[in-house]
Amino acid sequence: MKHRYCVLNVVVALSLALFLSIPAANAKPASNDIVALFDGGRAFFQVQALTAFGPRVAGGDQEKAAAQYIASEMVNYGLEVTIQEFGIDYFEELSTPVLERVSPDPTIYAAGVDFATMTYSGSGDVTASVQAVDLLMPPTGGSTSGCEPADFAGFAAGNIALLQRGTCTFYEKAVNAENAGAAGVIIFNEGNTPGRTGLLFGTLGGPGVTIPVVGTTFALGEGLYTLLQAGPVVAHMDLDTISEPRTSQNVIGTLVGTQPSQGIVYIGGHYDSVSVSPGANDDASGVAGVLEAARVLGTKGHRTKATLKFIAFGSEETGLDGSYYYVVENYDEVSTSGIGMINLDMIAVGDVLQIGNIGYVGGSGPELKDFTQEKATAMGMPWESFAASANSDHTYFEQVGVPAVFITQRPDPYYHTSEDSVDKIQVNTLEANGELATAAMYDWAKNPLLRAKKAAKIKKVHVHHDKVRQAD
Ligand SMILES: [Zn+2]
Repeated sequence: MKHRYCVLNVVVALSLALFLSIPAANAKPASNDIVALFDGGRAFFQVQALTAFGPRVAGGDQEKAAAQYIASEMVNYGLEVTIQEFGIDYFEELSTPVLERVSPDPTIYAAGVDFATMTYSGSGDVTASVQAVDLLMPPTGGSTSGCEPADFAGFAAGNIALLQRGTCTFYEKAVNAENAGAAGVIIFNEGNTPGRTGLLFGTLGGPGVTIPVVGTTFALGEGLYTLLQAGPVVAHMDLDTISEPRTSQNVIGTLVGTQPSQGIVYIGGHYDSVSVSPGANDDASGVAGVLEAARVLGTKGHRTKATLKFIAFGSEETGLDGSYYYVVENYDEVSTSGIGMINLDMIAVGDVLQIGNIGYVGGSGPELKDFTQEKATAMGMPWESFAASANSDHTYFEQVGVPAVFITQRPDPYYHTSEDSVDKIQVNTLEANGELATAAMYDWAKNPLLRAKKAAKIKKVHVHHDKVRQAD
């Protein structure tokens, strides 16, 4: 054992000697060059350019226009660019929904309090009689209301179906109602347990139902049911939605490495945003970092051994659809050649730089995360480690075993609000985090095999160092 320590001491000495012998005389660019080349002003300009499209909702025209812009920028930097299209389920509610009781006792229900549009509901402006379908009142067990087509045996076409939550999906209930000729559907919370009395926010899971469908509180449904025991009830529903299959797209720029067999390092950010937000920090900031990294590494002759891929993901906000599609569609490439993935999501607002990953067991391992954290320290940047969740585009890369790091700045008080606008962007933060990501990508890809060996040695030295400390 002692002997081994001696060998390791030699390794340490050699490493130090090598390190110290790389002065400015060495022409090969290192992180210092990246820092000098990465231009925070240019990155900020990209945030402005992306937010100028308006909210870039997944599947929408603004998202498509932004994709074209990103692609043209990447082409300008000399990258090979492809646009990868994929299908998504699109849903948008165009106006505040209406649900009211016309008779008896006209009553206007409050959207978001008494009722809510089900995601992927169809549209319609309907005034019709309410008809109860196989309700379990009082709710003593599990309701099967509307789960079987036979539930609608006596249903009068053109009526609004009053259904109760339970047993089958909202989609099955709504489709059975639509097939029976219902003009609209009200599904009230089941009422059989305390957790099933409040406002029912539901989703139909995807497009397909063309009539308006709302979820309600148990109280609202119970009230309609009680009135129906005494006589006819007429309701008015007015929902204005778009629920349809659409396409979204990833924009992929590639710089082929000098030794492509050494693998691929990815850097990515998502360019879509939520509908209520300009999406400046979330995530025009990350895409700006990706674009400026692409410009620096694409135009300055910095060729790495590993191939570099710069990806602007579409449809992140809908559930990581773009990055999921990329990993699944390019499964062989990602799982066999992916040696690193840097995800930039929200990098330009807040006081604290966080660097972490999910750390799936059997997945990515910590290597690129550690490498990036060490680089941040070396660059004089304060940072904190964090356990990332499966909430951004690193997720599926990690799941197939790619060493990943998620770089993000916190906290952002404007997250997913109309206030996430260009004026909140901290240009210095955008620049520093972009430099870190670009330097990490470059150095990770520059010489993957040497880097891997060096990482192994560093690990052993750390073990040795601990032993020495214990001896002290
Ligand atoms: Zn985001």
